[in-house]
Amino acid sequence: MEDVKPPAPPDPLPPRRRPTEAELRLWPYLRRKIPGCRFRRDEAVGPYIVDFICLAPKIIIEIDSADIDREQCLRAEGFQLLSFNSEDVLADTAGVVSRILAELPDSAASTRQGAVLPEDERWMRHALMVARRAADAGEVPVGAVLVDRNGEIVAEGWNLPISLHDASAHAEMLALRSAGQKLGNYRLAGTTLYVTLEPCVMCAGAIIHARVSRLVFGARDPKAGAVDSVYDVIARPRLNHQPEWVGGVLEGEAAELLRDFFRERRTPR
Ligand code: ZN
Repeated sequence: MEDVKPPAPPDPLPPRRRPTEAELRLWPYLRRKIPGCRFRRDEAVGPYIVDFICLAPKIIIEIDSADIDREQCLRAEGFQLLSFNSEDVLADTAGVVSRILAELPDSAASTRQGAVLPEDERWMRHALMVARRAADAGEVPVGAVLVDRNGEIVAEGWNLPISLHDASAHAEMLALRSAGQKLGNYRLAGTTLYVTLEPCVMCAGAIIHARVSRLVFGARDPKAGAVDSVYDVIARPRLNHQPEWVGGVLEGEAAELLRDFFRERRTPR
């Protein structure tokens, strides 16, 4: 005779589930690094507990779930469902994060500017001084200073494309190159790059490749700025490295330096 058990009464407060290794790996990205979104773990949606949920935009991230009924129910609740295997999360967390970012609406993925730190003005003043070296060489005055996490200068660069016959010789590029040579590493994690003018597409790309942690710029560049003025290479990242950024530090002085330079050039000698 078969033993028929009565259904167990529902546990009013089930013990909190231990997160899997893949969930632990993904969690810091979801919680902090995907800007504009706040994810929660183990939230109930209808009869289901989902791995990660974001309420605005309505996104659920599930790891190793292959239950069709569950998926249909969650989609019926208006959620976009993104499913991943834990092997994929463990093997390539950054890749999984960029797939999540690609699904987010642009407004959700757009970073807000970070905070201005007390030392930012001092370093921007230094970058302005470096920019004057470019002006002295007859180049558009843009200066860059790379500072490490101890507040030490790693490298400086100023605009020299005309002098070096090199379209890539922007202040930022020269500072990153010089820092890479000095440290024997192209990766410059933990550094802050101060630059007097909003970086262009090329420099924004290099800043991401170099894993610069923080970018501070002075004047905006409404013609070619690629942080968030014309392009938003850094403000709306689709790549896995997202530098923090702040714009407009000593903006007036930085713009003035450029204006003076061009005014002088237009004045007949
Ligand atoms: Zn540039």
